Amino acid sequence: MKVHEYQAKELLRNRGVPVPRGEPCFNVGDALRVADDLGGDRWVVKAQIHAGGRGKGGGVKVVDSRDGVQEAAEEMLGMMLVTHQTGPTGQQVNRLLVEEGVDIARELYVGLVIDRSSQRVVVMASAEGGTEIEDVAARTPEKIFKALVDPKFGLSQTDALALMEKLGLEEQQAKEGAKFLQRLFEAFWETDASLAEINPLVVTSDNRVIALDAKFNFDDNALFRHPEIVAMRDTDEEDPAELEASAVGLSYISLDGNIGCLVNGAGLAMATMDIIKLYGGEPANFLDVGGGATTDQVTEAFKIMLRNPELKAILVNIFGGIMRCDVVAEGLVQAAQVVKLKIPLVVRLEGTNVERGREILEKSGLDMITATTMDDAAEKVVSAAGK
Ligand code: ADP
Ligand code: MG
Repeated sequence: MKVHEYQAKELLRNRGVPVPRGEPCFNVGDALRVADDLGGDRWVVKAQIHAGGRGKGGGVKVVDSRDGVQEAAEEMLGMMLVTHQTGPTGQQVNRLLVEEGVDIARELYVGLVIDRSSQRVVVMASAEGGTEIEDVAARTPEKIFKALVDPKFGLSQTDALALMEKLGLEEQQAKEGAKFLQRLFEAFWETDASLAEINPLVVTSDNRVIALDAKFNFDDNALFRHPEIVAMRDTDEEDPAELEASAVGLSYISLDGNIGCLVNGAGLAMATMDIIKLYGGEPANFLDVGGGATTDQVTEAFKIMLRNPELKAILVNIFGGIMRCDVVAEGLVQAAQVVKLKIPLVVRLEGTNVERGREILEKSGLDMITATTMDDAAEKVVSAAGK
């Protein structure tokens, strides 16, 4: 699950990680009130969407007057903000963060992710803050420093300090930076985060080290123990198809292609997408109906897939293990009748009671293309989608 920058900053602030003073706003009046409350003579108005690169797209404005705050807020609220992470249509801006303008001496980068091969949190730091860290990683990977954290002890002061010194911070700044890193790690750990990115982490002209931007993702499987994070969910930022699917217990991810996939088991779903690509097609979605999908769930799955106007064909690829093929076949027939399919449907069934399943499909008179192997299925659905 993702949260907005202002929400991530709230979590950090509550855990003693330095962030600029600021508050979220939902209208221009709010923005002016927050600016008045903050005082000072420089404010930053920041569009709150679940995507980075806002600065370049016009979603971050540094202003030095009350009128400037008003102008920026009027301009941003309701706009479709396009960044390299939103796709070409952009994302509508419904919330702003108005915060104090900070005097920046240096912009650094800090990121925390889970490194699956070592099974540890890895802390990454670079002096190349403010820019696209992906570019730095691709062009000059030696400029990113890393430390693996032992889960038993957390991020030690020694390791945190060593990282900060590698970024060329002088003694006092490095100490501040190390304290920042240790608290950031604690926040990451306590909230079951899966990713934290502070870009930029800044050193101010008066030697403070603070998070100017904050991105946090959380492990969905641990959300049950963090109701305060669940409460931060902003469904406006999420894909409606994915939301609908999760409400009925399906794992669904929208993709850019035109071949719908209905599969049981995440592994088989991944393999199905791979083989579609191997045969020159593009999957329209990842969909795992799980081990015990009901007819209702299969029907819902069809409905969700069919809402995509790009869809040209559907591949149903089911391996009957715990779930028997005859049950799946019945569900499929019923679902296809409810949704009145108008595009080609390719079905591959394999596993327990497969003969019974195929029989049910044949007898149903349902208009479909049957397939035997994965290759056969992929070839048929790619060709059906191309027509
Ligand atoms: P994004 O990464 O989405 O572009 P950031 O929050 O990183 O958004 O902001 C972009 C840039 O705007 C930062 O690199 C920084 O230079 C400037 N900026 C952001 N917040 C502040 C602030 N509170 N004070 C001063 N400058 C800021
Ligand atoms: Mg940023």
